[in-house]
Amino acid sequence: MAQEVRAIVQEVIKRTHNVKSIRLEPAGDLNFKAGQFLSVRLKAEKELKRYLSFSSSPSEGFIEFTKKLTESDFSRTLDGLKSKDEVFIQYPFGDFTLKDDHKKVAFLSGGIGITPIRSICKFATDKKLDVDIALLYANRTFSDIAFRQDFDLMKKENPRLKVVHVLSEACPDFESCMGRIDSGLIKKEVPDYSGRKFFLCGPPAMVDAMKKILSEELVLPKDSIITENFQGY
Ligand SMILES: Cc1cc2nc3c(=O)[nH]c(=O)nc-3n(C[C@H](O)[C@H](O)[C@H](O)COP(=O)(O)OP(=O)(O)OC[C@H]3O[C@@H](n4cnc5c(N)ncnc54)[C@H](O)[C@@H]3O)c2cc1C
Repeated sequence: MAQEVRAIVQEVIKRTHNVKSIRLEPAGDLNFKAGQFLSVRLKAEKELKRYLSFSSSPSEGFIEFTKKLTESDFSRTLDGLKSKDEVFIQYPFGDFTLKDDHKKVAFLSGGIGITPIRSICKFATDKKLDVDIALLYANRTFSDIAFRQDFDLMKKENPRLKVVHVLSEACPDFESCMGRIDSGLIKKEVPDYSGRKFFLCGPPAMVDAMKKILSEELVLPKDSIITENFQGY
């Protein structure tokens, strides 16, 4: 892991009504893998630091992280960031990454848990990796879906990427599945599930529930399940 470094905000991108991405000015060596995370410290009256996943891929040539905005001081300060402001970052951390022998994978994600998965899917698409990907992405409503257009573009470029949106509230004009991610939906949308590595990312309660479904209902071995817990939600 490298030392903490100063970085300059290049762009602030609104992803949904309560999700923002901060893109940093490209600087030197992008020494991270798709799916890893960084620490972000914001300068304010008191120390404000959080761990956040990279939402960008190293193939894009810049660092971007994406935060669900809450009422916290960190969120409020981040919400006020603008181009040319400074942040302090340290990376890389974590092992939520594709390995060379991962040829068929499935991602199960909810809400803001999509960030490292967006990074991995973008990397696989840009690098034309020999990986078959199925993503089930759960949100409450259509307007809660982050990176929707991004995934649409990736699907056009990458025939080996399947994206299934799962919404708990109906949205008549949008192609999605209604309800929650459960064993029935996994069997229907990922019929070859037993031959895949599953990557789960989201709030701890969601990750625990998904893990239970995969290990108890679908009887997948422990080493087929890779998790990233977003502690704090
Ligand atoms: C590996 C990993 C990757 C993550 N990736 C993302 C991501 O991509 N996007 C995203 O939105 N969230 C991500 N999170 C969650 C993120 O770190 C925050 O916990 C979450 O965003 C809520 O922070 P908050 O400031 O909005 O809420 P708050 O309610 O203020 O804080 C939530 C949590 O932060 C802890 N906390 C409070 N103060 C501090 C402090 N000074 N230093 C450290 N922790 C403190 C609290 O104990 C609480 O558990 C990730 C977490 C982990 C562990």
